[in-house]
Amino acid sequence: MTSIEIVRATVLDPIVGELAPDRTVLIDGDRIVAVLGPDDAPPAGFTATNQIDAAGRVVSPGFIDAHVHLLGYESDLGVPGKESPLYVAARAADLMTAMLRRGFTTVRDVGGADHGLVRAVEEGYLLGPRIFHGGPALSQTGGHGDFRSGGEVCAHQMSTVLPTIGLVCDGVPAVRQAVRNEIRRGARHIKLMLGGGIASPTDRIDSSQFSDEEIRAAVEEADNANIYVTGHAYTPRSIARALALGVRCIEHGTLMDDETARIFVKHNAFLVPTLAIGALLASEESTQFGVPEESRRKASQIRAAGTEMLRIARAHGVQTVFGTDFIGPMHQFQSREFAIRAEVLSALEILQSATVTAAKLLGQEEQLGRVANGYLADVLILNVDPLSDISALAEPERAIGTVISRGCVVQR
Ligand code: ZN
Ligand code: ZN
Repeated sequence: MTSIEIVRATVLDPIVGELAPDRTVLIDGDRIVAVLGPDDAPPAGFTATNQIDAAGRVVSPGFIDAHVHLLGYESDLGVPGKESPLYVAARAADLMTAMLRRGFTTVRDVGGADHGLVRAVEEGYLLGPRIFHGGPALSQTGGHGDFRSGGEVCAHQMSTVLPTIGLVCDGVPAVRQAVRNEIRRGARHIKLMLGGGIASPTDRIDSSQFSDEEIRAAVEEADNANIYVTGHAYTPRSIARALALGVRCIEHGTLMDDETARIFVKHNAFLVPTLAIGALLASEESTQFGVPEESRRKASQIRAAGTEMLRIARAHGVQTVFGTDFIGPMHQFQSREFAIRAEVLSALEILQSATVTAAKLLGQEEQLGRVANGYLADVLILNVDPLSDISALAEPERAIGTVISRGCVVQR
């Protein structure tokens, strides 16, 4: 086991939004064991095998991206379900390493990552962030997780074995079985596609998906296993219905209005906006990444609503979490989400969404999202002060210095 001493550290506390200068952060194995002030003595018996001088830089908790697709190496999300699982795993490994280097030491995969990928990272065979996975996103036929074109009939999407980003299931018994199957394989949450989306070829953004009975069945099964359901939804109709039926978290939420925001607060639910990918898909820039014209058209329809949603969520005090949802070669722009949120939110609010609030969504607030005694040793040493310039994080190659993941230095 390695032990690390970070000296001359200015430590960012995302709860109060303050920088504490002249600290020494001690890491033993995969835990932070002390954050010492200038006059504090180190715990007895601690000797560091590795010392890092953080003078002039900011020591931050690792960031959490609560909406990724680790199998989404192509802009067409239907591709992984047609490929060799071994090839898909190799591409996922590449995406994971890059995310870690951008400072995302934890990710929540909301469609795609399976128990095997999680295990390979946890056992150290692949380099990647901590993964909170839910298996494939469950979808009705013709819903947002059904990536077949209208003319395509093949049933590969029905596989419960091959890694796919979406899994089609219709009717209460099929939904129950799909949820139970993901729970069997260690899912930390269940993802439902509850309305139309941008990347799916055959649905409309304003459609609601799954019946009340199907949603209720998924919520009951998840609740029985002490995990939660999160739902992809854009419209007030889809969001309101989902929250009333016990869905605990909404992905995107782009067309949310004041009334929907009140329902969020009433149910103490979480919102995971994904603005940067929407802006990119709606722009000319996306044509070079093989994004189908239909997806670009859908993205343009809702582009303006994103910032307004953030404004509404903030005004009502909705618990808002950092998420990105990048796909294919556009993953390189994952960190743009920090900059686009700055149009509405303060630097501190954005940092909280990517640390303490995200940790709360994951049920990990006692051990993720802070640089504090007893927390897991996922630590960044930033070349910038994000409290004074949050947009600087949009350029990770400049902003992110050292990355420590699970107590190991993975980037100097
Ligand atoms: Zn989605
Ligand atoms: Zn997504």
